[in-house]
Amino acid sequence: MANFTEDQLVQLKAALQKRYLELQHEIRDELAHTQDISADELTEYLNNIPDDIDTALIDRQINEMLELEMSMRYLSELEFGDCIDCGSEIGFERLLAYPSAQRCIQCQVQFEKAFPKESNPSL
Ligand SMILES: [Zn+2]
Repeated sequence: MANFTEDQLVQLKAALQKRYLELQHEIRDELAHTQDISADELTEYLNNIPDDIDTALIDRQINEMLELEMSMRYLSELEFGDCIDCGSEIGFERLLAYPSAQRCIQCQVQFEKAFPKESNPSL
């Protein structure tokens, strides 16, 4: 595990949770345009993401939420802060800026070269 101080872990946890809530709000706003959906229904919806979801934006947001969920689970485990590809430290500053980051910068560059469509969606 990357060597974070207690204080850094607290900050990273807050950044993860903040980003997660932001995404929930964004998705709720998106869905509100097309359907009337309550917070409870949204939770239900997110737990049973339909296959026919056709909004690329929501797809990306849900993907990021899933990554954040994974990071939040990792936070209490030993792997947190380590790159999923090479195992080196992702870095505190990078995690704070991109709480859902799963890779160090070097591996992210390689990943984006290998999967340009998945990681570089055109807006
Ligand atoms: Zn790496």
